[in-house]
Amino acid sequence: MNSRVFLAIFICLSSSIGLSKHIECDLTLDDFKPLITNGEIQNRIIEMAKQINHDYAGQELTLIMIMKGAVCIASDLMQKITVPCTIEHMQASSYGQNGTHAGVLTLKGIENIDFEGKHILLVDDIFDTGATITKIKAELAQYNPASIKSAVLLVKNKARAMQEVPEYIAFTIENQFVIGYGLDYKELYRGLPDIWVKKD
Ligand code: 5GP
Ligand code: MG
Repeated sequence: MNSRVFLAIFICLSSSIGLSKHIECDLTLDDFKPLITNGEIQNRIIEMAKQINHDYAGQELTLIMIMKGAVCIASDLMQKITVPCTIEHMQASSYGQNGTHAGVLTLKGIENIDFEGKHILLVDDIFDTGATITKIKAELAQYNPASIKSAVLLVKNKARAMQEVPEYIAFTIENQFVIGYGLDYKELYRGLPDIWVKKD
């Protein structure tokens, strides 16, 4: 290849990479507005826990907290569950530093948990495409649990069209990007007590 052509291609490529870096600028809380208050979340968690206590009556339950997004809901839900219940955690990550776009889904920590003969309830923050929960359920099935269900804080509207949505859902929201109560933007804002949605 002629060195001038090579140089031209190199400049073109590096400037387009530079440009794409600036397409998603860093968001601040000013780019979001409140969507669901912590009080509303707590009320729904009480109702979800009532249903779970009813459905698992006489059984022992293993909650699997899917880190990091489930940290708030798992903690609040566990406090309202009255059937005998243990908690374990595993990690699923797809967004991370990507911000608002999902990347490659990776799972960690499954090998540290004993699933054999257990009633498993996966607890996650949000069911969007369903890829995370579907993949985890498929992996766990190999370890012979007695049952596997899932409980999530949020389901995005589009996921409602799917055959297999989680058994326990606190809220259904539009297909918008949300933060707070465990949900992050580039690992920040998980500690907000309420859920906030990105402004249009
Ligand atoms: P799914 O695999 O169902 O497409 O997405 C599940 C994961 O993507 C969630 O557990 C969450 O970590 C991330 N995710 C999906 N939508 C949102 C969102 O609106 N806000 C944040 N912070 N994370 C999201
Ligand atoms: Mg998650």
